[in-house]
Amino acid sequence: MKQDGFKSFSLNDGILRALEQLKYDRPTEVQEKVIPIVLTKKDVVVKSKTGSGKTAAFGIPLCQLCEWDENRPQALVLTPTRELAVQVKEDILNIGRFKRMKAIAIFGKQSFERQKIELKQKNHIVVGTPGRILDHIQKGTLVFDKIKYLVIDEADDMLNMGFIDQVEAIINELPRERVTMLFSATLPEDIEKLSKKYMSNHEAIEIQTSKTTVGKIEHVLLEVNEANKFNLLLDVTIVENPDSCIIFCGTQEEVDNLYRKLKKANYPCEKIHGGMKQEDRFSVMNDFRKGQFRYLIATNVAARGIDIADISHVINYDFPYEKESYVHRTGRTGRAGKNGKAITFLTPSDEKYLKETEQLLGYTIPRGTPPPHDEVIRAKDAFEKKRIKRPPLKNDKKDQVNEGIMKLYFNGGKKKKLRAVDFVGTLSKLPGVTADDIGIITIQENSTFVDILNGKGIHVLEKMKTTTIKGKQLKVYQAKE
Ligand code: ADP
Ligand code: MG
Repeated sequence: MKQDGFKSFSLNDGILRALEQLKYDRPTEVQEKVIPIVLTKKDVVVKSKTGSGKTAAFGIPLCQLCEWDENRPQALVLTPTRELAVQVKEDILNIGRFKRMKAIAIFGKQSFERQKIELKQKNHIVVGTPGRILDHIQKGTLVFDKIKYLVIDEADDMLNMGFIDQVEAIINELPRERVTMLFSATLPEDIEKLSKKYMSNHEAIEIQTSKTTVGKIEHVLLEVNEANKFNLLLDVTIVENPDSCIIFCGTQEEVDNLYRKLKKANYPCEKIHGGMKQEDRFSVMNDFRKGQFRYLIATNVAARGIDIADISHVINYDFPYEKESYVHRTGRTGRAGKNGKAITFLTPSDEKYLKETEQLLGYTIPRGTPPPHDEVIRAKDAFEKKRIKRPPLKNDKKDQVNEGIMKLYFNGGKKKKLRAVDFVGTLSKLPGVTADDIGIITIQENSTFVDILNGKGIHVLEKMKTTTIKGKQLKVYQAKE
């Protein structure tokens, strides 16, 4: 199995090609276990560490199992936050691109009308947050009769008090004949029991991931009094001098406060929490993903699932009161084989929460000592140098897969009765073009977007200026994204 990597799963060639471009040479442990089981359409409950590759463990079989010809959504993926919905959608698009799998993200605080239009198009996989998904199901704007696969990512969070009613309402609407999959790094027993209600004959998979596939996280606790927290943070960041760091606070107000103070101290920082405008949340996450600033101050909204390359440090400025949340917050570092450091501030009143957290972890988090004054002084120079330097930009996974892809715009769509098959039919008959060169197709009322793969975009663009589709000559341009 190990030698031929993903080939042993008999996956679609397009999927294999995408995995190659993503540099997924070999399945991770969780993928090796889960993919073959899901391909046989069995329900699964999967517990596997943060950063162990759970998204592709469901993303790959979903892309394999969904049929391109079907116009109605076949798979639904539920996530707790909007940022995670967008990330999972991107991951699925990257895996399914060459099989032309269309995935969309649907979440609250975005125009319902726009989503309604998007949902009318051909979509294979819908990813979203429960509230808005339920809303679309109830209003009849998300057609769910063909949904055969349901994934609940961060399952324990989703089946917890905050979400359970909505998730249950969604499940009750979906077809009974379906495959249900639950994924998380933490799955308390009561939640696992509850989940059986939604499954038939499922397989429980728990991966005790070996150290080779998941990076190591070095954990340390620093005792501090509430009043000294900020000074300790300054000392710790100077000595650690992180390249990329998330600082978690307990509340939105705490995030705002700390952000103000760090800005004043000229830290290259931004913030994210649920009280901000959605556009701002997305733009901060995007900039952090690209590595445009080094410190992100966040509430738990950034604790689950978010996969950003090379976060070197996670600092719990406020102790995570909900015990699972320690695992998720610190799991933002040490991903995909990389190492990381998790530093947690512990005030005397936090001690009672620490016990529960350590019980869940199954080990005692080592206590460290605050950096001594002379060490801080010595480290200051290097810290200042890095502080004023622009961070090097991080690689984006998407760019690797997007290489050689050009998006074309055509000035005709549904109103002209054009369908995806019409575009595939015409384009694949052009000289030197095959169906494998055609990527994702998005048909709107008056326009259509088609991804052309393998560097053939210019060629197709030229040819289509004088080639008709269903007897119609359309205007064609390279699309601005
Ligand atoms: P989890 O959901 O388990 O926390 P993710 O699915 O977000 O983890 O994956 C963590 C990282 O590992 C991502 O950056 C992903 O691109 C990468 N990854 C996933 N599968 C593989 C693989 N087979 N080979 C290399 N990298 C992988
Ligand atoms: Mg995940």
